[in-house]
Amino acid sequence: MTETYVVVGASLAGARAAETLRSEGFEGRIVLVGGEYHLPYDRPPLSKEVILGRKEPDETRIHPAEFYSKNDIELLLGVRMTRLDPRERRVELDGGAVIRAEKVLLCTGTTPRRPDVPGLELDGVHFLRSIGDALAIRDALRAGGSVVIIGGGLIGMELAASAVALGNDVTVLEREAGLLRRVLGVQIGDRLARWHSERGVHIRTGAEVARLSGRGRVRWVHTTDGDVIAADLVVIGIGVVPAVAAVADSGIRIDNGIVVDGFCETSLPGVYAAGDVACRPDERAGRHVRLEHWHNAQNQGMAAARAMLGKREPYREVPWFWSDQGETNIQVAGHRGAGDDVVWRGDPESMEFTAFHLHDGVLTGVIGVNRRREVRMAMSLIDKQVRPDRALLADPSADLRGIGESAARARGA
Ligand code: NAP
Repeated sequence: MTETYVVVGASLAGARAAETLRSEGFEGRIVLVGGEYHLPYDRPPLSKEVILGRKEPDETRIHPAEFYSKNDIELLLGVRMTRLDPRERRVELDGGAVIRAEKVLLCTGTTPRRPDVPGLELDGVHFLRSIGDALAIRDALRAGGSVVIIGGGLIGMELAASAVALGNDVTVLEREAGLLRRVLGVQIGDRLARWHSERGVHIRTGAEVARLSGRGRVRWVHTTDGDVIAADLVVIGIGVVPAVAAVADSGIRIDNGIVVDGFCETSLPGVYAAGDVACRPDERAGRHVRLEHWHNAQNQGMAAARAMLGKREPYREVPWFWSDQGETNIQVAGHRGAGDDVVWRGDPESMEFTAFHLHDGVLTGVIGVNRRREVRMAMSLIDKQVRPDRALLADPSADLRGIGESAARARGA
């Protein structure tokens, strides 16, 4: 009997999983279910190349259109899973169709968090998650005007850089005392904020939105402090929440997303999860982590597919992501903690530096600004949990590979 594997979520994790199932020899039926009408596409270009008009939507596709038919992958687009029957592994779809599957992979991702304020329904108010969102924002930015971005996180600051480059008047409202602090820490977050200010972005920290107003179309953003800011366009990027509604009554373990083991399997036998929605054990961090980044979606999707085929290797990759904000490239790998010992290589003022995070002497995380290569090399040291020499780490002339080798020698001695 032909087996059926259903992959729910036709974004990066799901598309790479379907590809991997085939390339690793699965000969049964593969169904890839996606809520959007677009072929699976990459999201990183949305806030940059697509908004700036350097890439058209078709150029963001993960696979060419013919890939799916060539590989006999059934694509159900514009269709959402409404429910998962755990006992029979029946995937129920809106419209009433039901697919009975031997194995199911959930790659449902996340949905944008919505602030609880009046005025979200006004024209000119957007979230940035899909191609449709990016095109609507691109059109508005081309018309030019006052842009208010709510949330100074990764979406907010990538978009702010793009919007300023297109000649708009951009204000970012962030409720914390600084930008990007959760992902980059105070010192680097503040340095980046200054860099954005110097390029003309107006930054208001400690600012909470109370409501949006206008007649049919947004015109004003009102803060809880009583400030009123003119806006032709409002984009909200205040984080995301795991998309778990369709499995909420399935009995699957949910705790900050869908909990999986080291092999991407959920608490329901035969049901796996990968990508932004999956919360997995991370032995280096000593806890479960849920990552909302491209690299994890791709690689965990592939690892889950292999696990579904019985090729069980624990998924234990070092977390990594990048963010391009204008011409600034930021790379982050591993984990950061509040009590870390931070060793700097390069001066943060120069906007070319690396910050190495050590916990009890072990390299656990790294943040690089315009230092791609160093971050990639540091990842292998994080993976090996080396105890590097601080002075060598800080020395820009010291090769990171050599640091790894001398740390390994010291451990062996
Ligand atoms: P994010 O990076 O988590 O940033 C959201 C920011 O908005 C945070 O600083 C948050 O502060 C702030 N915020 C929350 N509520 C607010 C409010 N009511 N008013 C003003 N500010 C508020 O999330 P995002 O920028 O929306 O991005 C969505 C997801 O896509 C994230 O998971 C992100 O990692 C991912 N993404 C990744 C990349 C990349 O890898 N390069 C790029 C874009 C997006 P608190 O921290 O205090 O909540």
